[in-house]
Amino acid sequence: MKLDILAIGAHPDDVEMSCGGTLAKEIAKGKKVGILDLTRGELGTRGSAEIRDEEAKNAAAILGVHVRQNLAFADGFFVNDRDSQLEIIKVIRKYKPEIILCNAIDDRHIDHPKGSKLVSDACFLSGLRKIETSDEGSEQEAWRPKLVYHYIQWKDLEPDVVVDVTGFMDKKMQAIYAYKSQFFDAESEEPLTPISSKNATDSMEYRNRNLGRLIGTEAAEGYNVERYPAVDSIFDLI
Ligand SMILES: [Zn+2]
Repeated sequence: MKLDILAIGAHPDDVEMSCGGTLAKEIAKGKKVGILDLTRGELGTRGSAEIRDEEAKNAAAILGVHVRQNLAFADGFFVNDRDSQLEIIKVIRKYKPEIILCNAIDDRHIDHPKGSKLVSDACFLSGLRKIETSDEGSEQEAWRPKLVYHYIQWKDLEPDVVVDVTGFMDKKMQAIYAYKSQFFDAESEEPLTPISSKNATDSMEYRNRNLGRLIGTEAAEGYNVERYPAVDSIFDLI
């Protein structure tokens, strides 16, 4: 299946909390969207890899994504090397996405900037035809996504591009709450973590509302880009 967008995250839940609104909006417009998780989040203080697998499946169903895959790299310890790049290249060549969304370029969790650079490098390398890969025995064609956008996660980075997600915040928040083990749950007896506080979950919503305020809409998600964002017409900007 060819995808329009492949959203990649170091941990299952990165995508939902950072670009869930953008994905829900594009899916509603008929775009084909997939999610690739690099790890199963097995080092997470709360929950377990198995619980997280289940939560990721539920969140994907809420957003309506067409495919979700997990590379099961080592949480916390994966590295940006040839082996990891090749695994990601195989997925990029399989789904041929026009756009890749990936982790924040700078963040509190070390896997986020690491995943950000790893995916960005894999996107470039995937376009080199002399790097040979295969999928289920057949040779894959080189494919380089047109654009790589880095979503914003824990830190308040200054976005280069802002996407209006008015009307899709409810769906985004539902997908976030599918990760019951990770986010705010008054009944949970597990240790409190930075992302499981009520303030943290609330911040995911009000930060999007605030970006929306700044562009004159109800809600928005911000991204950093690697090259100048270009429009066909100056009237394309809202
Ligand atoms: Zn994460």
